[in-house]
Amino acid sequence: MSNYSFYQDVEYYVDQASKYTRFQKGILDQIRQCNSVYRMKFPIKMGNEVHVIEAYRVQHSHHRLPTKGGIRFSTAVNQDEVKALAALMTYKCAIVDVPFGGAKGGIKVSPSKTSPAMMEKITRRYTTELVKKNFIGPGLDVPAPDYGSGEREMAWILDTYSALKPGEVDGYGCVTGKPVNLYGIRGRTEATGRGVVYALNVACSYKKDMEALGLEVGLEGKTVAVQGLGNVGYHAARIIQEYGCKVVGIAEREGSIYCAEGFDVEKVYKFRQANGSLLEYPGSTVLKERNDILYMDVDILIPAALENQINKSNAKKVNAKIIAEAANGPITREGQDILLKKNILILPDIYANAGGVTVSYFEWLKNLSHVRFGRMKKRFEENTQLNYIEMVEDMTGKSVGAREKKAMIRGSNETDLVNSGLEDTMIEAYHAIKETQKRTKTDLRTAAFTLAITKVGVAYQGMGIFP
Ligand code: NAD
Repeated sequence: MSNYSFYQDVEYYVDQASKYTRFQKGILDQIRQCNSVYRMKFPIKMGNEVHVIEAYRVQHSHHRLPTKGGIRFSTAVNQDEVKALAALMTYKCAIVDVPFGGAKGGIKVSPSKTSPAMMEKITRRYTTELVKKNFIGPGLDVPAPDYGSGEREMAWILDTYSALKPGEVDGYGCVTGKPVNLYGIRGRTEATGRGVVYALNVACSYKKDMEALGLEVGLEGKTVAVQGLGNVGYHAARIIQEYGCKVVGIAEREGSIYCAEGFDVEKVYKFRQANGSLLEYPGSTVLKERNDILYMDVDILIPAALENQINKSNAKKVNAKIIAEAANGPITREGQDILLKKNILILPDIYANAGGVTVSYFEWLKNLSHVRFGRMKKRFEENTQLNYIEMVEDMTGKSVGAREKKAMIRGSNETDLVNSGLEDTMIEAYHAIKETQKRTKTDLRTAAFTLAITKVGVAYQGMGIFP
């Protein structure tokens, strides 16, 4: 399907973008490399049999510490993939100004075919291996969820780390994406999907770009197809409906469904949870092939499953006008060449799905500061708002009713602060990418990589490592 591996694609993007920077070759070579690659094999007893598990942790860049990146649980995990994903994390963090280097983990196991007890055993053993080699810690390397993992796995990682490193005052910051009642943060679970929607919202506010696509400005009324109803895809699809979009196509492993009037995503999600498949969802039409979701005639396509979905063999069949890469690497470089010739607007993964690491950063800050966001100012804000209202009442001689007052007075809580911090981050990052694009006159991915490489290179120079 592709002449290049995932990691080779990422290296290619870096090389293309490097041409628009002024760093000497040594700095660019350093930026490009994966700094540390840890491949491990460990035994796990399943029933009476012993199985050898293959796993990885790759730290791509140490220009900022800790390094940061999710852990993927999948039978397709391999070293090339983990290296590619770790590299993407470095550039992603740079774009959204999150002060981490990039990392990624992978465990070659199928979560759907492995019992929860066995998943726990594997996760805890993996964490122990990371501790043994100093590959985890709030100031060293901080994992998070990725494909096939979630809050449950993050809770096991925290518990194992805490048992092996008792009394570390900042130990809760050793992993993010934890359950809220275990030092996690509100809004992290849906952060990546929400970030995808914020990214699309700001992209659709650029009048000239929308005119070039023959689309109206704004998200309102746009049609959407989503591949993958997992963590990222489900939340992106659910939240984009709140902006007036119609989700007309949804794909999962078992196939793809279509509904011209638009789905209620929440209902489809619950239906699939209850029935194990979305194919019989009432009022929907099943598409002939699972991958037909990628060729639907929609305004926005959100691939939110895995890499290499759109490649040189199928890119010409894509009909969407905008593609938001919610997954990492869903379009190969050869696929991208074809899509760009078709004038399709691609929001690249290193920007579009950066919402997850942005809110992971907020969670890490919360863990280090040992206080919930909003806790110290919520009441203060409410009192200040009340003072304003009373002042206006005094000045006008008119009084505001108790019910109206209650509706007007609202101090910010953790969810408000997380979501507004995320929205602001996605908006600012997009404007910065567009500015870079204006200067370099390239596509959005090359502009995003140029911006990221510039920031990482400047950090290396600041460390005095290079002139
Ligand atoms: P997930 O495991 O929660 O969901 C992925 C879903 O895709 C699953 O439900 C799976 O059944 C489905 N799927 C797999 N192959 C498919 C196919 N061919 N067609 C349709 N559906 C298919 O994983 P996730 O956390 O949502 O991650 C999805 C992608 O987003 C990955 O590329 C991941 O690296 C990326 N990502 C995730 C996060 C995060 O915070 N979880 C952050 C940034 C990027």
